[in-house]
Amino acid sequence: MSNYVAPVRDMQFVLHELAGFDEVAALPGNADLSADLVNQILEENARFSGEVLAPLNEIGDREGSVWLDGDVRTPKGFKEAYKQFIEGGWNALQFPSDFGGQGLPKLVAAPVMEMWKSANLSFSLCPLLTGGAIEALLLRGTDAQQRTFLPKMIEGTWTGTMNLTEPQAGSDLALVKAKAVPDGDHYRIYGQKIFITYGEHDLAENIVHLVLARTPDAPEGVKGISLFIVPKYLVAADGSLGPRNDVRCVSIEHKLGIHASPTAVMAYGDKEGAVGSLVGEENRGLEYMFIMMNAARFAVGMEGLAISERAYQRALAYAKERIQSRELGGSGSKAVPIIRHPDVRRMLMSMKAQTEAMRALAYVVAAALDKSHHHPDKEERARSQAFVDLMIPIVKGWSTETSIEVASIGIQVHGGMGFIEETGAAQYLRDARITTIYEGTTGIQANDLIGRKIARESGATAKAVLEALRGFDRELAGAAGEDLEVVRKRLAAAAAAAQDCVNWIVATYPKDIKSAHAGAVPFLKLMGILCGGWQLARGALVAQSKIAKGEGDAAFLKAKLSTARFFADHHLSQAPGLRDAMVQGAAGVLALAEEQF
Ligand SMILES: Cc1cc2nc3c(=O)[nH]c(=O)nc-3n(C[C@H](O)[C@H](O)[C@H](O)COP(=O)(O)OP(=O)(O)OC[C@H]3O[C@@H](n4cnc5c(N)ncnc54)[C@H](O)[C@@H]3O)c2cc1C
Repeated sequence: MSNYVAPVRDMQFVLHELAGFDEVAALPGNADLSADLVNQILEENARFSGEVLAPLNEIGDREGSVWLDGDVRTPKGFKEAYKQFIEGGWNALQFPSDFGGQGLPKLVAAPVMEMWKSANLSFSLCPLLTGGAIEALLLRGTDAQQRTFLPKMIEGTWTGTMNLTEPQAGSDLALVKAKAVPDGDHYRIYGQKIFITYGEHDLAENIVHLVLARTPDAPEGVKGISLFIVPKYLVAADGSLGPRNDVRCVSIEHKLGIHASPTAVMAYGDKEGAVGSLVGEENRGLEYMFIMMNAARFAVGMEGLAISERAYQRALAYAKERIQSRELGGSGSKAVPIIRHPDVRRMLMSMKAQTEAMRALAYVVAAALDKSHHHPDKEERARSQAFVDLMIPIVKGWSTETSIEVASIGIQVHGGMGFIEETGAAQYLRDARITTIYEGTTGIQANDLIGRKIARESGATAKAVLEALRGFDRELAGAAGEDLEVVRKRLAAAAAAAQDCVNWIVATYPKDIKSAHAGAVPFLKLMGILCGGWQLARGALVAQSKIAKGEGDAAFLKAKLSTARFFADHHLSQAPGLRDAMVQGAAGVLALAEEQF
């Protein structure tokens, strides 16, 4: 089976040519950041991901995590790998230096995270959830809470979880029932949480659960939910571990994919009540979650990209080895590697082009996240934040939906062997399948996109993005060559389709909200294809100019041009159909539903 080799060259290309590394490096707080340092980090992480994490991916899938009377044992090798992970300082990379982090920008963290996720998605979920909990404490934790929990969590010796879901409260967190009863200077937490990623495991000394619950006199609905810290082991003032808290893992789920990642059912307060401390103010828990959600949703979008990369590498290696059928139009009588057949090439190009489009868009958004936090100019911060807010549901929803398609094509490239577990191709599809569900399903992302991100502001940010695309069209107009001519034509048609949709959403949302929502997912896909295609086109323009000047690696740069052209012909070309599905098809969805269900 082929190993994972991090695509460092493409990562570097996107960082430097598309995402504006120099601009991010010039932001306050990044004085020590240099291109050389980033090179070293990427090379070292590529080695760690390829040599330590990737070989455990298949073992993790086969063995899975196992529940043993309240404890959870992770698969063979995970404990040792996690030890190396924290000793290498990887967990601390993107968190503030005040608590022991290395303070690197999101733009550098993005390729680093991508590598862990490609190498071993199940493993990567542990630091992902810890990261979410760290962000919440950074955002609203008291000084004492931050001092007690953050250094260990940033180091990684303690991990974190996010406890939102309950059996009756999934997409709709207004239905959360867990109780938090005041008891002196803390609260006692009671209730059940389900589907809690790394809710119990054997990798760390302590697990810091962040739990949504209601105080006794809290108002109904979303405005009555508070956020609490509930550690597995209570922590004394000096930071030492005390007795077990009243929280336990009742079972873990048996599931389609990510077998090594324990998905726990957690029981709080079966005895005296689990001791919890409030984060921020009562009744504002969901509001805090929403602020943090950008980071978590972005990270899950990156999972889509990462699995696609791994599935592509596996399929490419197989296509070079597998001998089958004579070459069309060839004179030889011998069967050739399947990569010689046009349809296999089409499949591989589709996997590659979509993966590169996802990467380019995700890193551009990561750079905007850095600017939204640290740019010295207030207006630039606000502009970047608006762009990030618009793009997050697209990165999450489109990249994860696309990863299912890419992983499925990966199986197709393998033929029958793809359906057999030993090639590994099937695992990528099974693992990818959860990414469109957790951290808000695709339907929820699309609702967010058309509602909070477009209708609420009359499409202002979306229109600004489309204006930027028109500016880019003028740049493309000056470029020579058939490839860029085709890319320009397709991009302009896709942008026009998106413009029609935005106008339609703004007009339709206030008077016919159901129709607007009926077309939300096709629109989200259109925006993903458009914004991913835009970034590939920018890359193609850079590549063309470098080729003309005789700079860089000619083969890599030529591939950038032909990949953008492929994406334009095969994917951007779908945009007008998606516009029709939204604008004309929405009413049909509702009519059909009334007649048939
Ligand atoms: C492996 C795994 C790990 C998870 N990890 C965590 C975790 O660590 N912490 C945590 O708190 N939760 C976790 N979850 C829970 C996850 O976030 C939820 O499963 C997810 O939010 C969807 O909720 P649900 O399963 O109740 O589905 P439902 O909310 O019941 O949704 C069912 C269907 O209805 C659709 N739907 C629902 N409401 C709407 C709407 N308003 N508009 C359009 N469509 C709608 C959905 O899109 C979906 O297609 C995990 C789940 C899994 C399976």
